[in-house]
Amino acid sequence: MYVKPKKYLGQHFLLNDSISQRISASLCIEKNHNLIEIGPGTGALTKFLLQEKINLVTFEIDQESIEYLNLNFPNLKVYNQDILNVNWATLFNNNFSVTGNFPYNISSQILFKIYENRDRVDKMVGMFQKEVAERLCSGPGTKKYGILSVLIQAFYNVNYLFTVNEDAFDPPPKVKSGVVKIKRNNIKKLDCDEKLFFRVVKAVFNQRRKMARNSLKAMFGDNKIDHLLLTKRPEQLSVSDFIELTKLLESKIK
Ligand code: SAM
Repeated sequence: MYVKPKKYLGQHFLLNDSISQRISASLCIEKNHNLIEIGPGTGALTKFLLQEKINLVTFEIDQESIEYLNLNFPNLKVYNQDILNVNWATLFNNNFSVTGNFPYNISSQILFKIYENRDRVDKMVGMFQKEVAERLCSGPGTKKYGILSVLIQAFYNVNYLFTVNEDAFDPPPKVKSGVVKIKRNNIKKLDCDEKLFFRVVKAVFNQRRKMARNSLKAMFGDNKIDHLLLTKRPEQLSVSDFIELTKLLESKIK
């Protein structure tokens, strides 16, 4: 059975087994641990994940791929659901990991979903567009540093693992890809209001060229706080600076 890759679903099937093997090995999943694979497609990565003694569930929205998977991997759990509409909290009784050669059009949304479920998602090894992968791993002082770098790095240790060339896929995408591993750090809760932290990070990065003070005015008014952090632009602020900034505003709101 041949599955025709569909552009609107972001389907680029991995041809190179050694890349799938590297992704699977990088997960370092312990026995019986829970794992979600997003978008198994025709099982390029799945076939290696199935060799591990883990509890694997997969989510795929392409009917043709699902038929292919049912035929070739009869024991695989495949749910025909859009991963963005799934309530991750109800999937398992305990924590889980996430993997996939992600559909690039929803990669940021997958990362936001991981952020929302940070108390459940222990780790993720995933393939992204190279630029997204680099952004995720960038630190302050770089152009690529952004909202998702701060949010994810607040709760995860991030590692850029390797770059994958266009010709590793059918059809080849227009850009290179990058594989990233993130692993939960030991911070259970930030030392600030986490909902406010999220809003502050978003507001400050939404106006990249402005000083934090100006970007935050719309949200918090001209609160007359005098602090060095408010004179910085977003790419100059580290994760702990954003936490400090949130605490500053919190004290004014209360
Ligand atoms: N894992 C396969 C591989 O490496 O060859 C396929 C990867 S392909 C880049 C992305 C897969 O995600 C496709 O099979 C596509 O149908 C599926 N997909 C796209 N959007 C999805 C969504 N919202 N939820 C679940 N799967 C999705």
